[in-house]
Amino acid sequence: DRIDLRRALISVSDKGGLVEFAQALAARGVELLSTGGTAGALRNAGLDVRDVSEITGFPEMMDGRVKTLHPGVHGGLLALRDNAEHRASMEKHGIAPIDLLVVNLYPFEETVAKGAAYDDCIENIDIGGPAMIRAAAKNHAFVTTVVDVQDYDAVLAELDANGGATTLPFRKRMAQTAYARTAAYDAAVSTWMASAINEATPRRRAFAGTLAQPLRYGENPHQAAAFYTDGSARPGVATARQWQGKELSYNNINDTDAAFELVAEFTEGPAVAIIKHANPCGVARAESLEAAYRRAFDCDRTSAFGGIVALNGRLDAATARAITEIFTEVVIAPEADDEAREIFAAKKNLRLLTTGGVPDAQAGGLTFRQVAGGFLVQTRDNGHVTAADLKVVTRRQPSEAELADLMFAWTVAKHVKSNAIVYAKDRATVGIGAGQMSRVDSTRIGRRKSEDMAEALGLPGPLTEGAAVASDAFFPFADGIEALAAAGARAVIQPGGSMRDDEVIAAADRLGLAMVFTGQRHFRH
Ligand code: 5GP
Repeated sequence: DRIDLRRALISVSDKGGLVEFAQALAARGVELLSTGGTAGALRNAGLDVRDVSEITGFPEMMDGRVKTLHPGVHGGLLALRDNAEHRASMEKHGIAPIDLLVVNLYPFEETVAKGAAYDDCIENIDIGGPAMIRAAAKNHAFVTTVVDVQDYDAVLAELDANGGATTLPFRKRMAQTAYARTAAYDAAVSTWMASAINEATPRRRAFAGTLAQPLRYGENPHQAAAFYTDGSARPGVATARQWQGKELSYNNINDTDAAFELVAEFTEGPAVAIIKHANPCGVARAESLEAAYRRAFDCDRTSAFGGIVALNGRLDAATARAITEIFTEVVIAPEADDEAREIFAAKKNLRLLTTGGVPDAQAGGLTFRQVAGGFLVQTRDNGHVTAADLKVVTRRQPSEAELADLMFAWTVAKHVKSNAIVYAKDRATVGIGAGQMSRVDSTRIGRRKSEDMAEALGLPGPLTEGAAVASDAFFPFADGIEALAAAGARAVIQPGGSMRDDEVIAAADRLGLAMVFTGQRHFRH
């Protein structure tokens, strides 16, 4: 299964490491073939290289759209060298075998990321490159395919370990990587076209990403994991700059994303969210980030330990000092002051990420969830209700202050695992019930946590007294409303739409609550 490497075709857009690699191949007696720009770069470096156009008998034409699409090239990549008929065809048509294909593609993803015009993006769709990669990878019984500059060293190591030849397991591994690349490339083209033609639904789509980072392990230490980026320019954990601290873990990335997406909902004034296991354990708005942090912390100090903190504004020194009072895993913010960074520098284990901006909570996009045998795709939950969309269903109208808290709680509830119940007062959460199988349990858990917190703070509890409450989905029975009233809540926001809305509304009226319906649900499982 060893194939001596005699002839290589190199056609690369990213010319990083090219000359050194080609020199190393030439030094091992490999003949080099190249397309225009690549050949030029190699000649400049004093290397001996043959032009592909010499093989095809055609000049590169149509702005490079047609360079290598020719039997002289594809025959050399695809021929089975142990097949008499294939060999006869090669001989008859003067086709020489190609043992190594080195191609990296036109920078389509980078061109899109730069915000280039439509025609520019189209011109950056590589045609001959993927065709050659797919051909060479198919014929891995004989041909080695390289699609990534990072693999150049591995090729040289393989040749040195095998007396100038490659082994079949190596060629198979490279072929597998090659198909991952062409699949990701075409998925990027299709995704870009979907956005260019405003095709927002996830129907007729292919999905792929680019490996950003191999992770030490997955959700648990016995699971292998990696982080892929999808090339979108959305500010967040995927594109953030990390200033300090250990590498992010799988769970860190997941939780940091949940935290930052939550604070991105608040575009008017400072907001802070503290996340544990992808659920908020405290969220607050205030006149300063420091005050917002302290109020978020006071929702559930116990859970906040070792949490992930997201801010929607520039991290300043006062907030940094407040955050360092306890152990925090990750802080993510659009920006950070120099002084704040110095304060964090003393906490070696604290990871600080800056994103350069806050994502648009109402932007479109797709989300994924895996099931056995497939995955589910849906548009992002970018649903948004305004006070004007609300329908008051009780005799009592919510007051202005209650309305503001209802809107705040509703926004937080969107980011809490279902069944979600969020108690809020003065734009801070005071009790969160998350991820329960029954809504009434979430209601009770939120209250109980607020009682614990009141005790810890030495305040008369529960803190849910006088709170506004959001429920991510309708109350199926009146018992949830009764439990909220028992916790001292005064106002409720929920989608409505239950078969027993009448009973639920009657209970609210009987208990003196104000209740509004949003007509929109925010399940999050
Ligand atoms: P060069 O810089 O050598 O002129 O061009 C290298 C690039 O051309 C590589 O990214 C390679 O994938 C691409 N390429 C090679 N053959 C063809 C072809 O026939 N058509 C198109 N569109 N691109 C090609």
